[in-house]
Amino acid sequence: MIAVLGGGVLGASVALFLARAGRRDVAVFDPLRPGPSTERAMGGFRTQHGSALNVALALHSRPFFTARAERVRFQPEGYLYLAEDEAVAAELAARAEFQCGLGLPIEHPEPESKVPFLVGDGYLATNFCALDGLYVPPLVHRVLIEEAEAAGATFRWGEEAPAGVAETAEAVVIAAGNWSPEVGRTLGVELAVTPLERGIFKVGPFDWLSGPVPMTLEAGSGYHFRERDGQLWLMGPGDQDSWGHFRAWLERRVPRAAVPEPAGHWTGRYEVTFDHHALVGATERPGVWACCGFSGHGVMQSPAVGEALAAMILGETPPLDIGALTPLRREPLIDRTQL
Ligand SMILES: Cc1cc2nc3c(=O)[nH]c(=O)nc-3n(C[C@H](O)[C@H](O)[C@H](O)COP(=O)(O)OP(=O)(O)OC[C@H]3O[C@@H](n4cnc5c(N)ncnc54)[C@H](O)[C@@H]3O)c2cc1C
Repeated sequence: MIAVLGGGVLGASVALFLARAGRRDVAVFDPLRPGPSTERAMGGFRTQHGSALNVALALHSRPFFTARAERVRFQPEGYLYLAEDEAVAAELAARAEFQCGLGLPIEHPEPESKVPFLVGDGYLATNFCALDGLYVPPLVHRVLIEEAEAAGATFRWGEEAPAGVAETAEAVVIAAGNWSPEVGRTLGVELAVTPLERGIFKVGPFDWLSGPVPMTLEAGSGYHFRERDGQLWLMGPGDQDSWGHFRAWLERRVPRAAVPEPAGHWTGRYEVTFDHHALVGATERPGVWACCGFSGHGVMQSPAVGEALAAMILGETPPLDIGALTPLRREPLIDRTQL
């Protein structure tokens, strides 16, 4: 048996690619803890990263989303980054040069040409990539589970792995999101993943918001929004439970959405590592593999990471070299585009 501990988007993806490779003994155990990250995510997909590895992970994951565009509601609307001062404009220029060097088609449109209801006054620069887009995270999760089951994987919902699984299973994959450190400890493996609370506010629906727009991000401040079902979903810095500063930002940038009270709000937890890159690969214990700590990128990276890790577990050459994500690394991987 290959045991996958955790049936979130990452565990489901690893199970899918193990089963697709012909394994008929893949079992995913998940006790269904409250508050998994996958169900609370924003639904952003971007190629605009600041490291070659993260760009490659995005480009390798993208066909999964486009091939299932209707099922996961993938909308290739792009990501629009906005620079609100000179320093951020210089940062966006440096990112664009780097990303164009990797073949990404970075453009610099006027903000209102992409987001007509945005007050674009004062923005000094933009970066936009049409390869980026939006989707619905629970649908990505459901599709991964359905395809994994169709390929022969078994999901044992409501169950923890049996005691001694690391002795009996051929391989064990720790894909338990924020619970990965505690799962790791039971297996004698250290995984430094820390929860970071992040909130989403919903406003609307609005009749003037009739269709999708890019994920729109103020790169310096961190405020950003997407459209979904005629509503705006908003994330940002600071107090994650306090509507006041989100509303104040909307008053300046999207006045029509600056309603007195939001239509909805929840928080979830990023699973953060010391360098904001996931821990993926063989651990210090032979036969035990890590797939956790995605630091805000887990849904968008899940197809490529699941495929690469499945190949590594099976002793094959992965289609994409993700060796740098080893959970045993001590030096940080650098990507300046955390937003
Ligand atoms: C507000 C917010 C916005 C986000 N926006 C985005 C975004 O736009 N794009 C993006 O790509 N990512 C985004 N993320 C990050 C993304 O949601 C996560 O990186 C991703 O969902 C992590 O998936 P996971 O499978 O590792 O963890 P989870 O989805 O948390 O799943 C972990 C699973 O492990 C199970 N588990 C717990 N204990 C055990 C145990 N003992 N044994 C077995 N299983 C166990 C849990 O029950 C759970 O089902 C966002 C996250 C948040 C909170």
